[in-house]
Amino acid sequence: MRDTPMHQGLRNKLVQELQNKGITDSKVLKAIAQIPRHLLLESAFEPHAYQDKPFPIAAGQTISQPYTVAFQTQLLEIHPGDKVLEIGTGSGYQAAILHQLGAQVYTIERIKELYLKAKQHLEKLGIRLKYMGYGDGYKGLPLYQPFDKIIVTAAAPYVPDALIEQLKNGGRMVIPVGEKVQEMLLITKDLNGNINETKHGLFRFVPMLKNKD
Ligand code: SAH
Repeated sequence: MRDTPMHQGLRNKLVQELQNKGITDSKVLKAIAQIPRHLLLESAFEPHAYQDKPFPIAAGQTISQPYTVAFQTQLLEIHPGDKVLEIGTGSGYQAAILHQLGAQVYTIERIKELYLKAKQHLEKLGIRLKYMGYGDGYKGLPLYQPFDKIIVTAAAPYVPDALIEQLKNGGRMVIPVGEKVQEMLLITKDLNGNINETKHGLFRFVPMLKNKD
């Protein structure tokens, strides 16, 4: 598969759709217009790549809906150079968007098959993340902490303590919390280390799982 003017046209349409749905951050929209989402998926899914829908990748997992990716990214307020931890690499699409915004991206995936595939797909696109790992997101990434931003892209039953600890003072974390449906939480840590939490609507994610497969 290649990236063609047709794909660019579909991406521009998707950006328009996301704007209509309320995404306002022009840098986030620009990144979505730039990342060839269809190249992070199996070729059978190419026709769906620029619809604003989630759909299966492998191992019973899904790639998040572009609206959700844009919404979470917008809440994170990424600045170039930010050190960002992502839990749930999945297809690598969200990680690619963060990278496009100039972040130093560290990402963890608990299903080996997905970790390997995302690595291969991102390499093909010439996208070099700071770190891609196969492991358990509940533990975060103690070796590389603290992070300016943390994004969780699976449904967490609660906010893991390790992630709060690994967030820098002045940092922001976006995490969907809940069982059947999830409340999107923005957790901020002020310069004194005090935690604040705000709610940003309901979403549906695949569950964040405890053990490695
Ligand atoms: N960000 C992804 C969306 C992935 S869906 C994308 O852009 O495509 C959520 C992912 O979280 C799945 O791939 C799932 O395997 C992974 N996941 C679930 N529990 C996890 C855990 N404890 N640690 C790391 N990844 C986990």
